[in-house]
Amino acid sequence: MTLVMKFGGTSVGSAAAIRQTAELIRSCQADWGPVVVVASAMGTQPVKVTDLLLQGAYAALAGDEATCLRVADALRQAHYETIDGLLAPEKERQQILAENQQFIERFAALCRAVLVLGELTPRALDTISAMGEQMSVRILAAYLREAGLPAGAIDATELLVTDDNFQSAAPLWAETTAQTQARLQPLLDQGIIPIVTGFIGATQTGVTTTLGRGGSDFSAAILGQALAAQEVWIWTDVDGVMTADPRLVPAARSIPVLSFREVAELAYYGARVLHPKTMRPCVENDIPLRIKNTFNPQHPGTVIVREAPAGNGSGAMKAVTAIKELSLITVEGRGMMGVPGIAARTFGAVARGQVSVLLISQASSEQSICFAAPAGATDSVLAALEQEFTAELQRKDIDRIWALRPVAIVTVVGAGMRGTPGIAGRIFSALGREALNIIAIAQGSSECSVSLVVDGADTATAVQRIHELL
Ligand code: ASP
Ligand code: MG
Repeated sequence: MTLVMKFGGTSVGSAAAIRQTAELIRSCQADWGPVVVVASAMGTQPVKVTDLLLQGAYAALAGDEATCLRVADALRQAHYETIDGLLAPEKERQQILAENQQFIERFAALCRAVLVLGELTPRALDTISAMGEQMSVRILAAYLREAGLPAGAIDATELLVTDDNFQSAAPLWAETTAQTQARLQPLLDQGIIPIVTGFIGATQTGVTTTLGRGGSDFSAAILGQALAAQEVWIWTDVDGVMTADPRLVPAARSIPVLSFREVAELAYYGARVLHPKTMRPCVENDIPLRIKNTFNPQHPGTVIVREAPAGNGSGAMKAVTAIKELSLITVEGRGMMGVPGIAARTFGAVARGQVSVLLISQASSEQSICFAAPAGATDSVLAALEQEFTAELQRKDIDRIWALRPVAIVTVVGAGMRGTPGIAGRIFSALGREALNIIAIAQGSSECSVSLVVDGADTATAVQRIHELL
């Protein structure tokens, strides 16, 4: 009955937060028995430690030594203050201070090396950015011990074996499972709580890697799979996955149960609750994934499972989200009809510019293709398309390539929408009553979500009106 729990940056962001986290760990261990904790680097605004580490590394690359020194100071201050506020001088305070100091000195030394060499490799970036977690787990584990809970800080470099794709490393599952079980199971058997660094791993030869920004959630899921955990919990600072962004919709509420599929649609559409890779190990091993609020632990949060009750009628719609700051780019011309390859060339040109496309729509008349892309990329995308279609533009097979901006994609998600007639109608009527213009529409054949493109200025109203239908 192992439970893997991940605590984000805010949960370890200060002495007070760590005290509260420790209480949660204590009560979960009492309820569950074996608990494995995964922790992020300290991350209380305005100081997010991972950001600071990266800022220092890039400053070093730019030859800006003053910033490196400032960053090292900020790191010292954040960690020492927390340690002083947490650990008793007669217990482990000196020891943990010394360990943290070593990391900060190592950080400063690496920055100096980068500064001298004028080179910052992805491998060096990983070694540098991994230190936030390496520091935070030592503090949390020491505090737990002081609070009377047996706990041990563990670097995931000992557990999580990855490929050498630095900054976005992928786990090697067989090796990871073997090492995780060999290292953690004996601790669990003795009632010790492993406090594991999120975000990081190591190659087979022991070089530190990271799983990508926000990757601690993924770490928890990986350990969950390796240990065949009963559940994986992600502790964060909201009551789970919400029906809408509470900043846009004050009446937004937490959704009790979602399917992996529904969350996938949501995550893609910017509900930034979970690192996108987190779900796969859980889906494949049928491990429920629970999102809970550290600041409201009594709240059940959201549990994500393989099959969620789909709901019917308006209940089929579970959440509405929006992605803003986009542009809608249209390639149109009467000469496009029936000509194969226009779509491939359009998206080929976009892809060469490393721009990702968020939504595509083409009507059966084939006289235009439109797609949404980040507004910031508009000019480069237009230029790439004009170049790709120079000949067609001259021949007037393509009349025009143009962009509408800013627009937003508003997406309504819910697996029960599949096979429930009238959902789209209800959405359109709600917006029609506001005289709100829908610029484009897309629904995938999964029917798990419907997306609408609206004028950027209409985003909040559109989300609010649709939310009233939920
Ligand atoms: N500390 C890492 C980051 O900020 C990983 C995480 O927090 O999930 O990206
Ligand atoms: Mg996160």
